[in-house]
Amino acid sequence: MSSFQTLNLDSQILTNVATVGYKNPTPIQSKVIPSVLLGKDLLATAQTGTGKTASYLLPLATQLLKHNKLPKKQTASVLILTPTRELAAQVLEHIDMLTQDTALKATAIFGGVSINVQKEKIQSGIHFLVATPGRLLDLVQQRAILLDETSVLVLDEADRMLDMGFIHDIHRILKLLPQKRQTLLFSATFSADIRTLAQSFMQSPLCIELNSNKATHLVRQTWYRMPEVLKREAVRDLIVDNQWQQVLIFTRTKTTSDRLAKQLKEDGFKVLAIHGDKTQAQRIKALEAFKNHELPILVATDVAARGLDIEQLPQIINFELPQQAEDYVHRIGRTGRAGFSGEAFSLVSEGELQYLQDIEKFLKKKITLSDFPGFNYNQEVSKCEEDNTKKPNRAKKDFKNHKKFSQRTQSRFSTSKMNFSRKKNQFRSQEY
Ligand code: AMP
Repeated sequence: MSSFQTLNLDSQILTNVATVGYKNPTPIQSKVIPSVLLGKDLLATAQTGTGKTASYLLPLATQLLKHNKLPKKQTASVLILTPTRELAAQVLEHIDMLTQDTALKATAIFGGVSINVQKEKIQSGIHFLVATPGRLLDLVQQRAILLDETSVLVLDEADRMLDMGFIHDIHRILKLLPQKRQTLLFSATFSADIRTLAQSFMQSPLCIELNSNKATHLVRQTWYRMPEVLKREAVRDLIVDNQWQQVLIFTRTKTTSDRLAKQLKEDGFKVLAIHGDKTQAQRIKALEAFKNHELPILVATDVAARGLDIEQLPQIINFELPQQAEDYVHRIGRTGRAGFSGEAFSLVSEGELQYLQDIEKFLKKKITLSDFPGFNYNQEVSKCEEDNTKKPNRAKKDFKNHKKFSQRTQSRFSTSKMNFSRKKNQFRSQEY
């Protein structure tokens, strides 16, 4: 195993690495750092959670310090493009940590916050500019930023940028950059689209492929068969029965995200939802509260959750499975990070079994199927769901007498108020 000391990094950067608490380079860092220092173009598959951000920041900071060049007014030496505001903010956090006590300047620009403040920040020139494509182009159009001095372009989570339809913005940005530059592209997978994109603007890049579609082995993955109408109850039980202190819950859509957060709030939980329709301020506030353990439950859609870096997040729940198998890998990558173990629980309805199959095919392994505690799986759950998903109100009533559910599940529904107040008290006494 290599050590940071052998990787030719700047001495202040090495001090910062130690201060931040990184002991040894992760596998991707061992491979990426030397190539970036050589000035090579790079195509790397790496998911969040593998240490990919530092893998490009450490050598780029080293190079900038070595050349010790002041960036010209309104220019940026290194441009890092990210698909989401959250990822941009997180990359900036990493830069601030890893370049502390150096003269390197960094800022992030993204939509949803004042453009004038961002203009001021880049006015005097910047070493690291982290940006989402749309806001960057706005600032270029307003002549607040010039990209002709940028010598390094990093595309972080390039696959997600393509998924989100940023391809035209990326091509517009590429045209504004100098031909002679170093380009680093990070993606969770090497899909055909990513290869085509890379071929269009990179010359003989080095390819580093690391566990592209293997979910981190540190995450224990379980799925439960769960009719749609019972999922809310199941979430409640998982949290209360296991006395979880922090859980991230994924939904497929913004509507489900809002609905679930509202329901859990009604159930007495402290919870917020983040998704594309929330303002930047709301998203940042929710994320900060969750990271600081002031908010125990965060419900999120894939876009909002992409790139979230929450230290030692112990578990996540897939309230709904994602349509894209890659998103499942990203979701479970929120836990089991940086050497810590984690758990991912998926609640899978009959209608989602195809998604599950696709995910298992993508992972090239089976996810453990478990019985949800107290649920009678010998009965025909799927039939029940078929009958009831479209009519949740009627379904609830039906459950009271439904022979297909175990005694415990039935009583949970028929005496839900009573049971629930017990759980609420239990929850409160833990002071979430
Ligand atoms: P990333 O894949 O860049 O999102 O990083 C995931 C997490 O790993 C972040 O919390 C990093 O601070 C952390 N990390 C990055 N490199 C190391 C390392 N060498 N040792 C321990 N943690 C690290």
